[in-house]
Amino acid sequence: VRIGIARETAPGERRVALTPETCRKLVAAGARVTVERGLGVRAHFADEAYAAAGANLVDDAASALSDADLVLCVQAPPPAVLATLREGAAIVGQLQPEADPARAEAIRTRRLAAFPLERLPRTTRAQAMDVLSSQAGMAGYKAVLIAAQLAPRFFPMLTTAAGTIRPSKVLVVGAGVAGLQAVATARRLGAQVECFDVRPETREQIESLGGRFLDLGVSAAGEGGYARALDDEERAEQQRRLGEHLRGIDVIVCTAAVPGRPAPRIITAEMVAGMAPGSVIVDLAAGTGGNCELTRPGETLDASGVTVAGPLDLASSGALHASEMFARNVFNFASLLLGEDGLRCDWDDELVAKTVWPPREG
Ligand code: NAD
Repeated sequence: VRIGIARETAPGERRVALTPETCRKLVAAGARVTVERGLGVRAHFADEAYAAAGANLVDDAASALSDADLVLCVQAPPPAVLATLREGAAIVGQLQPEADPARAEAIRTRRLAAFPLERLPRTTRAQAMDVLSSQAGMAGYKAVLIAAQLAPRFFPMLTTAAGTIRPSKVLVVGAGVAGLQAVATARRLGAQVECFDVRPETREQIESLGGRFLDLGVSAAGEGGYARALDDEERAEQQRRLGEHLRGIDVIVCTAAVPGRPAPRIITAEMVAGMAPGSVIVDLAAGTGGNCELTRPGETLDASGVTVAGPLDLASSGALHASEMFARNVFNFASLLLGEDGLRCDWDDELVAKTVWPPREG
């Protein structure tokens, strides 16, 4: 099997879908791996390391991809590049085919077997391939560090000759993968941490990380272990209880999401206005509309003394470890596609059958 990897082209993208470690494993499995020179520089993986791992280095994307049976990427290459792939080639990455009609069209016209990893069923067997989880962990971690950086206060309690400093009170909104990593990170920095979610099973997870579960009296477990959107009455109840509670909070880290929908609006402008000056909100959901009404994607703004940050590309900002995890996820999925003598798509394997795009009939 010929595997090709080109440099990522999306703005702000520093991660890579192949590290020297996974390159070595693919070569050991019998693949011929071709890499565009400079692939890993922004994630701190040198060309020499790929060469030592058995990759052939080439000077441009076309030479890396045009005769590949299998293309690996973090984000989808531009439609013009997809149009140069071998007809019927497979491509694995966080492809988001429906985010861009030209991309979807290119995948269809080249008859590519596209495997957008965000479509992977979240079963136990799929965990080792789950890029949403591995990347959310980095995002939750970085969001807390940004909050700590923006806050005009310490996170830990300090007892000093200049008196005692009380610990910061951090509220994490949403206890999915990113939220739980945010709870753990804020705890490690010594803050007092509270967290709420609409899935009741998160209470135990939050408490096991040293956080306090904030009970807002709303339970909305949906399908497949995810949350469902709240109805108007539930949302009003959540907001009423939250509004009162926020006055004592120094830092909010927002991570709430509902699959296939814009991020739920949870923190209103009125709630922000009720917070003390010097408070900080970091909204990890900025890319999908934000959990805070005032969030502007990619911007940090001041709302009457409250700092509201909507950082994008959080996983990419930890490119080295994010890439190590992403590349292992991709390697584990790609292993399902490597046959004895070429690529194989085993449609009896639910991970292969349910991830492929366009979706299979029936
Ligand atoms: P996500 O990114 O879709 O959502 C983040 C969190 O926001 C979720 O916990 C959700 O319940 C919460 N939320 C939604 N609306 C809310 C609201 N109005 N108020 C407060 N919180 C709200 O979720 P995720 O991090 O991708 O994970 C979701 C679930 O999937 C979790 O149960 C996780 O353990 C599970 N999961 C399973 C596997 C696996 O078994 N392979 C892998 C990853 C995640």
